[in-house]
Amino acid sequence: MATVIDGKAVAAGVVEKVTAASAAFEAETGMKPGLAVVIVGDDPASHVYVSSKSRMAKQCGFKSVQHTLPEDTSQQDLEALVDRLNKDPEIHGILVQLPLPAALDSDPVIQMIKPEKDVDGLHVVNAGKLMTGDLEGGLISCTPAGAMLFVRNTHGPDLSGLNAVVIGRSNLFGKPMAALLLAANATVTTAHSRTRDLAGVCRNADILVAAVGRPQMVKADWVKPGATVIDVGINRIDAPERGEGKTRLVGDVAFDECAEVADVITPVPGGVGPMTIAMLMANTVIAATRSKGLKPPSF
Ligand code: NAP
Repeated sequence: MATVIDGKAVAAGVVEKVTAASAAFEAETGMKPGLAVVIVGDDPASHVYVSSKSRMAKQCGFKSVQHTLPEDTSQQDLEALVDRLNKDPEIHGILVQLPLPAALDSDPVIQMIKPEKDVDGLHVVNAGKLMTGDLEGGLISCTPAGAMLFVRNTHGPDLSGLNAVVIGRSNLFGKPMAALLLAANATVTTAHSRTRDLAGVCRNADILVAAVGRPQMVKADWVKPGATVIDVGINRIDAPERGEGKTRLVGDVAFDECAEVADVITPVPGGVGPMTIAMLMANTVIAATRSKGLKPPSF
């Protein structure tokens, strides 16, 4: 049976480090790291995410500001708010919760956030820095940064000689994850919906990362014995065994069967999920310290 990574515990360790760095920043500069979270519309899931981000920011000792805008907010008004936050010296990190309502175009909004305040790591400047191997100069997308922490904790910082397969090629996760693994010297394959013999490709992986959005797609016979399996997927499926109309969350990996083959595996929930918010806090304190020319903490 594989070792199951406790994402909540790893995330708590990151938050503890962020809280200490935030206190040191305040002692040095007299100001708190400032995080502004912008949410537009009434999507209940987005409101849950945003509340937990704001709560965690307060817990870390940040100045936490939430801007809740109505569903019918215009593109111009949203961009005007981002412009104000870009200019606000007390705000070091800006996050615009996605998805935006259908009438709004998210890309120009994300791309107008100052790269040094882009704590989601989605600005092309930050994506470009990561792609060119500059891991110290930019801000790294939170979920891949969190997944990479699990990989580093398991294998150390140098993945020389290891094969890594990332299933999924999104800008949000797959591409930055592949770049992080490559920067750590793994031999990386990015698989996607057009990959032929996906199971065969995955069986070659010492590190297998699944970010697809298909419940329990990765089966035990896709997993190389002794591999590290990182499951990023979050899928809600029916769970009639829990009662009529009940549902439960599962990942992209068939956990029980894969845990019998892998050496290390992440669960869903409780694996990669808790790391995303923790790494958002880490990016905010990194952005704040850099803004004052101080040495940022490393995670
Ligand atoms: P996405 O943009 O929908 O990308 C999914 C990727 O999976 C695409 O590259 C797609 O290939 C590939 N894919 C789809 N069907 C496939 C198949 N049958 N075989 C192989 N590849 C296939 O999703 P995402 O934003 O990267 O997110 C992926 C999953 O991670 C979702 O479940 C999401 O909820 C979860 N997620 C979790 C967190 C967290 O905090 N834990 C954060 C982000 C995402 P093509 O490019 O060829 O279409």
